[in-house]
Amino acid sequence: MVIVMGPEATGDNVASIVTVVRTAGVEAFVSKGVKRTIIGLVGDVTQLDSANLRGMPGVREVMRVSTPYKLVSRENHPERSTVHVGGVPIGPETVTLIAGPCAVETPEQTLLAARMAQAAGATLLRGGAFKPRTSPYAFQGLGERGLRILAEVREETGLPIVTEVVDANDVDLVASHADMLQVGTRNAQNFALLQAVGAAGRPVMLKRGMNATIEEWLMAAEYIAQRGNLDVVLCERGIRTFETATRNTLDVSAVPVAQRLSHLPVIVDPSHSGGRRDLVLPLTRAAIAVGADGVIIDVHPHPEQALCDGPQALVDTDLGELAQVMRDFPAMLGKSAALALS
Ligand code: PEP
Ligand code: MN
Repeated sequence: MVIVMGPEATGDNVASIVTVVRTAGVEAFVSKGVKRTIIGLVGDVTQLDSANLRGMPGVREVMRVSTPYKLVSRENHPERSTVHVGGVPIGPETVTLIAGPCAVETPEQTLLAARMAQAAGATLLRGGAFKPRTSPYAFQGLGERGLRILAEVREETGLPIVTEVVDANDVDLVASHADMLQVGTRNAQNFALLQAVGAAGRPVMLKRGMNATIEEWLMAAEYIAQRGNLDVVLCERGIRTFETATRNTLDVSAVPVAQRLSHLPVIVDPSHSGGRRDLVLPLTRAAIAVGADGVIIDVHPHPEQALCDGPQALVDTDLGELAQVMRDFPAMLGKSAALALS
């Protein structure tokens, strides 16, 4: 069951409901969105039949929800959501370009990549300080030093930053620098991490697990929402299939399917899907055409020297074409490219 509060509801109204619900032996999880608060109830809700929740101050609606992901479902939240990251929107009206290096390597490399991102029309900067690598011998990221570099580059360029957190113990540290926390495909069902980012007070980008069904992906998002954070953006980044010609298989149908099931924005990562520079622009066009609310793209000033994922990074000569795609494609769908903060 879900209780949707009206915009006029006060903190005291919410607290009274939580008290009534818990007194009846049912657990209540409060999620505060930008516009409204939702209270998810878990347990034997028949104990609340006589409580007249509908009549309590501040309550707009009380609904039974049949999907297992109550808070991120569109069933009780029919309008699609917009998530703001450092003021930049990601949602149904816009296509947001997030770009930057796969990994933060040096201050110079990060700043150059950020300038490349801006030249292509990006309004958010990506870059990993903590890298989840398949091999323990591969570059693991600069950690806290990488976060400080990202913060300096944000200062220099004005671009809010999106960066990955791989360990629940690092969430507060990463959240103290980042504008958006990224949970990667390898951690998409790390439930302790999902709960920690749910409580961190920052928007979250949740990548789809490389072997996750769409329902599992939405359940992972529900873990974040259940801890009080409805500012979640889903990111389709390709799934494992029998095909070896590409790094992963971009599941374009996941975009409209997830958008139909959930009110959360859905973006696409064409870089980690294809894993090849020559596929990034075609897959970006496909992502926007299928209705993605944004794309996240790797760029690097010197991909041949990159410490991570050089083969999929766009280079200077690709930026003009990416900028053109960002100008032309959203308009065909009645959307606009999400603008930078002035
Ligand atoms: C990344 O975006 O840097 C990354 C590691 O992506 P994924 O989790 O999709 O592999
Ligand atoms: Mn990468």
